Amino acid sequence: MANLLHVPYSLELKQPFGTAHGTRTHTDGLLVAIESEGLVGYGEAFIPPYYPETRETMAAFFDLTDINVLVRLNESEDQNSYLDSILPENNGAKAAIDIALNDLRGKQLGLSVREMYFEKGQREWDRGQGANKEAGGVEPEHGTRDTEHGDPQRIPTSFTIGIDNIETMVAKAREATDFETLKIKLNGENDIAVIEAIRSVTSQNLFVDANQGWKDVEQAVTTAERLVELGVGLIEQPFPVGQHKKAGSLKASCGVPIVADEEVQSLEDIDRLADYYDGVNIKLMKAGGIYRAVEMIYTARDKGLAVLLGCMTESSIGISAAAQIAHLADWCDLDGNLLIKNDTCTGARTREGELLVSDEPGIGITDDTRLRELFNITG
Ligand code: MG
Repeated sequence: MANLLHVPYSLELKQPFGTAHGTRTHTDGLLVAIESEGLVGYGEAFIPPYYPETRETMAAFFDLTDINVLVRLNESEDQNSYLDSILPENNGAKAAIDIALNDLRGKQLGLSVREMYFEKGQREWDRGQGANKEAGGVEPEHGTRDTEHGDPQRIPTSFTIGIDNIETMVAKAREATDFETLKIKLNGENDIAVIEAIRSVTSQNLFVDANQGWKDVEQAVTTAERLVELGVGLIEQPFPVGQHKKAGSLKASCGVPIVADEEVQSLEDIDRLADYYDGVNIKLMKAGGIYRAVEMIYTARDKGLAVLLGCMTESSIGISAAAQIAHLADWCDLDGNLLIKNDTCTGARTREGELLVSDEPGIGITDDTRLRELFNITG
């Protein structure tokens, strides 16, 4: 018999986090544990308030889920088909379950998720059933690993700076010198001034994320020209969802990748929008977990899109899970756990701007003491 447990949890941000959607101090969500035969797999769902899912909808989804059916299904494709048969959408809830199932399965096999899917032939992707294999695609190998010294996989990640007054944003940029790339949130108000000020104190790569904050396409083209002069190397979700034709115009005039985030939630969105963007930001919370995220990554590749693997405000459960597939992405923006003050566990760590991917079984949690307390798990 398996059990699906969930507890409410609020991730508290170290500092208020500003985006074009507004400023927030915390993100409410749920932590999930799936217990089966003495092993526990962990997952989580943290969805920002500008998406429709809430704790209540997620808990309701869990109530509709027969965890014993899921655990018996064993293969990720079957498990995800079952989840999709319960209700459409609800991808945060599905992500929490998929992450926990993969964590549990890895612990049962004694393999990390990365090994299960990509290195040891235990799951679908490694047995030639992935979209990339059918299309003859090549998996990009991102990151470096010094196997001789037993080092963990190391993958550079960017660090995000939220919207604030310019002095504060500059101060944050000065503190984040470990990171190769800074991702700067913009809102269409004083974007050029922000980037000029940050550029004046650092030579790091700069990406910008407008979070749908740009309105006028001509204005955007002018702004983007100046941002590129200042060395900005990527522009994320410039216009509101639905205005992808504007993104297409910007893409045609702009020398750096234009990447969709809020506008791409599903596989179908990738198909529909591939002509308007250069790349797509894929997140476990949007995709519905590890398996669907890998599917989206391969589909994006087949469509000629670059892949940024991103995250919401998440704890080390979500970041560790994403780290397991981070080698598939062109860029990683997996810093959610660095921005919170009440992390749930220890797993993938970040050192000197690089994500160290844990080889521990499952998603790679190395210390679950806090989670055991929260779920009242003994033994
Ligand atoms: Mg974004």
